Amino acid sequence: MLDVPAGRTVNAGNSMQMKKDVIIIGAGASGLLCAIECGKRGRSVLVIDHVERTGSKIRVSGGGRCNFTNLNLTPDHYLSRNPNFSRSALARFMPRDILSLVEKHHITYYEKEMGQMFCVKSAREIITALEQECCQVGVEIRLSCRVSDINHAGVFTVKTSEGSYSSDSLVIATGGLSYSKLGASGFGHELARKFKLKVTQVKPALVPFVFQGRDQKVFKGLAGIAFDTTVSIGRKKFRGNILFTHRGLSGPAALQASLYWEPGEPLLIDLFPALNIHRVFLSARQSKMELHTLLSGHLPKRFVQTWCDHMIISKPINQCSDKELKSIAEGLHAWKIVPKGTEGYDVAEVTAGGVNTDELSSKTMEAKKMPGLYFIGEVVDVTGLLGGYNLHWAWASGYAAGQFA
Ligand SMILES: Cc1cc2nc3c(=O)[nH]c(=O)nc-3n(C[C@H](O)[C@H](O)[C@H](O)COP(=O)(O)OP(=O)(O)OC[C@H]3O[C@@H](n4cnc5c(N)ncnc54)[C@H](O)[C@@H]3O)c2cc1C
Repeated sequence: MLDVPAGRTVNAGNSMQMKKDVIIIGAGASGLLCAIECGKRGRSVLVIDHVERTGSKIRVSGGGRCNFTNLNLTPDHYLSRNPNFSRSALARFMPRDILSLVEKHHITYYEKEMGQMFCVKSAREIITALEQECCQVGVEIRLSCRVSDINHAGVFTVKTSEGSYSSDSLVIATGGLSYSKLGASGFGHELARKFKLKVTQVKPALVPFVFQGRDQKVFKGLAGIAFDTTVSIGRKKFRGNILFTHRGLSGPAALQASLYWEPGEPLLIDLFPALNIHRVFLSARQSKMELHTLLSGHLPKRFVQTWCDHMIISKPINQCSDKELKSIAEGLHAWKIVPKGTEGYDVAEVTAGGVNTDELSSKTMEAKKMPGLYFIGEVVDVTGLLGGYNLHWAWASGYAAGQFA
């Protein structure tokens, strides 16, 4: 295991050599994959990162087991202003390709559900594999190295806390804004702007929602309760668990909805995605059972109690009018919540938006206006759904740039 202490250089390469063929900023998923591919082509490569470890986000991804790809991957699993942009890179680096790398390094993996591939042991194994691959092709990695300035005059000059480096190609693999404690920064977006490239609006995504004040008070006691729902945002629907938190809603269905949510928009939650609850009411039409007792047979009791206390007047079913039952059923199939906001970049798994794909070649990831400058991974306006798609985009875009940089 090459666990590298702060300030040291991983590998091998001649660290005194200040001119490289390729400099890659960001030693995360996309940067390391790109470095390996450039190295395989015989390019001299320097990877620079301002934190003290490689692959910080890989390490925490998938709860430490890294959901590193998805077997069902298609371009439809990605959001971007240009939905076709990711096609080319995804077609050239498929789930099978990352599985081959994982297998080469004897990393055991398994399919959790719906094509989501995880490490059996630890995400650290993937980082070790990437570091070893980098070593084998002579990639130099400088950690705890701060970039202070970048200029272009024929070659790129990168001024850092460790000295000045120059290169023919410069690859920006600095990721998005989420999880600044793991090294995330707006560096890539700022650099794009510096070179007059457009950046789309960015927002935290795959992130829990925060309830409005009143809802927060009402539902905070339910923290930890999770159950199956369908969460709709506009025309998009996500089937899966919601999880109540102290401040709002998380869980896979809510997190995915956050990709599409804009402030002020309501979420509609179908609390019975697999059941027509109106029919259930009608089948118990003559019953003296309280509505909340019936509902507790299908949903967590504490949730039902809280929901009924605030949304309806629970009474025996045989005392409800047809209209009342219909309206309650509608409310259960479309519980409307207008979140106050999201938990923001501190806990968002990704940043939606980024360098505008109009600025980049979908084949090479190179900036059209600035030959030699490449953007890969999360810094680009390509964002995946939950389930291994974001790491796969990092691999695929890193691979694409790695064939040309
Ligand atoms: C908690 C969490 C769990 C996740 N789980 C999954 C999952 O299971 N599956 C999945 O597909 N996706 C997951 N993701 C998303 C996934 O980790 C990212 O989309 C992916 O790592 C992006 O890769 P990247 O190479 O673009 O950027 P990153 O992996 O973020 O790497 C960027 C690198 O650039 C460095 N950097 C930033 N600014 C500078 C600077 N100014 N100077 C030098 N270096 C800089 C950073 O230190 C970092 O090392 C998760 C994210 C989080 C936060």
